[in-house]
Amino acid sequence: MDLFELTRRLIDIESITRNEREAGEFLLARLSDTVARHDGRIERMEVEPDRFNVFAHWGEPVVTLSTHMDTVPPHVPSREDENRIWGRGACDAKGIIACMMHAAERLLESGVRNFGLLFVVGEEKNSAGALAAAQDPRGSRYLINGEPSGNKLALGSKGALRYEIAASGKMAHSACPELGESAIDKLLDALQDVRAIRLPVDPLLGSSTLNIGTITGGRAPNVVADFASAEVMIRLVGDPAPLRAAIARAVEGRATAREVLFIPPVRLGRLKGIDTTVVAYTTDIPEFGGAWGKPFLLGPGSIHVAHTLEEHVPKRQLVEAVEIYQKMVSQLLTA
Ligand SMILES: [Zn+2]
Repeated sequence: MDLFELTRRLIDIESITRNEREAGEFLLARLSDTVARHDGRIERMEVEPDRFNVFAHWGEPVVTLSTHMDTVPPHVPSREDENRIWGRGACDAKGIIACMMHAAERLLESGVRNFGLLFVVGEEKNSAGALAAAQDPRGSRYLINGEPSGNKLALGSKGALRYEIAASGKMAHSACPELGESAIDKLLDALQDVRAIRLPVDPLLGSSTLNIGTITGGRAPNVVADFASAEVMIRLVGDPAPLRAAIARAVEGRATAREVLFIPPVRLGRLKGIDTTVVAYTTDIPEFGGAWGKPFLLGPGSIHVAHTLEEHVPKRQLVEAVEIYQKMVSQLLTA
C-alpha cells in the first residue's frame, strides 16, 4: 500500500477516542508483516478493556517514533485531490502514522535497526495510552512524537491551565435589585480583572494567551441572577504559580476559581539540519514524562485545520515527513 493509500485507509477507519480497537487491529496486522520480514517484535499494550497501544520494534528500541491513533469527532471519510488528502485524522494524526510506518520500512530496508513504533490511544481526551506507556517503558532513549507542525521541529509547546470560575448570588425581582445579589455582576467584575492579568512572555515559547471560552448564568431578564459561571483556558509558557495567584486575587470576594486542568509547557530538543518552530498546542509528551526518552516533536500538516471539518494534509508534506523521520532516527541512533 503506498503512502497516500495507507493514509486514506487509516482515515476511513473511524477511531474517535474510546473507539480505537479497529484501528489498533489494522495496525497490528499491517505491522506484523514488517515485523516478520525484518526480525522484529510486536505487541499490544493493554490500556483498558478493548483499548490498546500498538508497539513494534526491531532490535533494541533506542529511538521510538510515536503518535496517536484516536481522533476527535465527527468522523469524516477520506478524499483526495491532486495536492491534498482530506478527512478526519488527515494531519492529526493518521497521515503521521502512515509516514512513520513508511519511514520504518525504508530504514529497515537500508539495514537500520534499534528503533520502534508506538501508536497510542486516547491523546484527544486524557492521554490514557501515553500514561499507560509511561508505566511500561522499554529503554527507549529518544521519543519522536508526531503532531502536525508543518514538518518543522518544534522547540517547545505551550502548556495549559484551565479554570471554572463560578459566582453565586441571591434571586430577587429585577424591579428591586437591592433585595438581591447578582451573581452575573460579580462574575463580570471578576472576569474583568482576569482579563487585565499581565500574562507572562517567554523568549522561546512566546506569550501566554487567555481565552474565556464559555459563560453562563441567570434565569430570566426580570430575575436577579443567583448563579453564573465561566470557563477560562490559559496557554501557558512558564511557571504557573504567579498566574494561579493572580487568578485567585482577581476573583477574590466575588467568585471562586477552580483549577480543572494543568499541563506544563515543554521544551524540546533540536537536531541538525531540520527547520524549527514553536507550537501553541499540548501533546502527549508531558504524559510520557520522559519514560520513553528525550522528546522531539514533528509532523506533516497544520494544526490550523486539525479538529475542523476541512482537515487535510498536503501530499508533498507526507512524502517529506517520511524522509525527515528517517533522518531523525538515523541521527539520534548515532547521537
Ligand atoms: Zn494530535
